[in-house]
Amino acid sequence: NSESNSYEEVAVIEGDGIGREVVPAAVEVLDAVGDFEFRTARAGDAVRAETGEALPQETYDTVADADATLFGAAGETAADVILPLRTAVGSFVNVRPARAYPGVDAVQPETDVVFLRENTEGVYAGHEDRLSEDLSTLTRVVTTSASERLAAFACEFVADRGGDAFQVVHKSNVMRETDGRFRDAVVSVADDHGLDTEEVLMDAFATRICLDPTQFDVVVCPNLAGDVLSDLAAGLVGGLGLLPSANIGPDNALFEPVHGTAPDIAGEGVANPSAAILSAAMLLEHLGYDGEAAAVRGAVESVLESGPRTPDLGGDAGTDAVTGAVIDRLD
Ligand code: ATP
Ligand code: MG
Repeated sequence: NSESNSYEEVAVIEGDGIGREVVPAAVEVLDAVGDFEFRTARAGDAVRAETGEALPQETYDTVADADATLFGAAGETAADVILPLRTAVGSFVNVRPARAYPGVDAVQPETDVVFLRENTEGVYAGHEDRLSEDLSTLTRVVTTSASERLAAFACEFVADRGGDAFQVVHKSNVMRETDGRFRDAVVSVADDHGLDTEEVLMDAFATRICLDPTQFDVVVCPNLAGDVLSDLAAGLVGGLGLLPSANIGPDNALFEPVHGTAPDIAGEGVANPSAAILSAAMLLEHLGYDGEAAAVRGAVESVLESGPRTPDLGGDAGTDAVTGAVIDRLD
């Protein structure tokens, strides 16, 4: 009935390890800024131990039916959980902002880059073959359609930020057929949208972002390059506990911190909730709550700058204290 449809439905999967600590923190923040109907579901090592299945059908359906999903982390079962969940939301792009914050030690404190990583093909979609005792091969998959879909998303993303250009990373001087196709598709879609592109070879990109990350803003990458280079950028900003991500599909999306289950600190109540809360901010923006998203980001920034801080950032506060401080500073 219309009553039950009046709130956005957000699927919530804590998963394992510190997912059980940081996801509830992010849900508290969402609760503080809006009216959502949360649908909790289970996935990961713990549910597999009980039921034999890391990703029960019920969880898959909950995610597929929700307006958006907030996910924590899964342990050993990560690949069995996150890959099908990305499929459940039809995710074709992985959005990974890497941003340094005042008050947090960073190798490159000026870093502020968003990676838009192709999420369906490249070497991760190709199949591997063992052809002999001595020889294994991998097929790399690149389609014009997936490259164009990513590029169209990038154009909208850049325009929303008030930009008029983005960078595209590839290695088409060597992988002429596959990265050539990727490059041609992305550049031509950008042209159609009236946006400029700067092409950066992926090896040169690695050097340039280390030396001066301020050269980069929105960076569009093939799957593997995006995976590696966004992790590199994560290293520049200091701390896995800070990095959110989004898997976006045509009419659904899943948001998750970049970090994993952090078994070394799980259960101690000291996990940094910032990455999960910033993932919730991306979820808010995706659902059209731009003001609320900005408020959450502002509150996280304020807490990062002046504390309280969790031990990974040199403080001695727990997850709850940091979450409480973020909620207090929402305006
Ligand atoms: P997984 O296999 O689930 O990825 P992992 O051992 O690789 O587990 P990560 O979660 O990737 O662990 O974390 C790597 C390191 O970063 C660990 O030392 C962990 O404690 C730390 N870390 C990650 N996330 C956080 C967080 N939110 N707060 C504090 N420390 C974190
Ligand atoms: Mg890990």
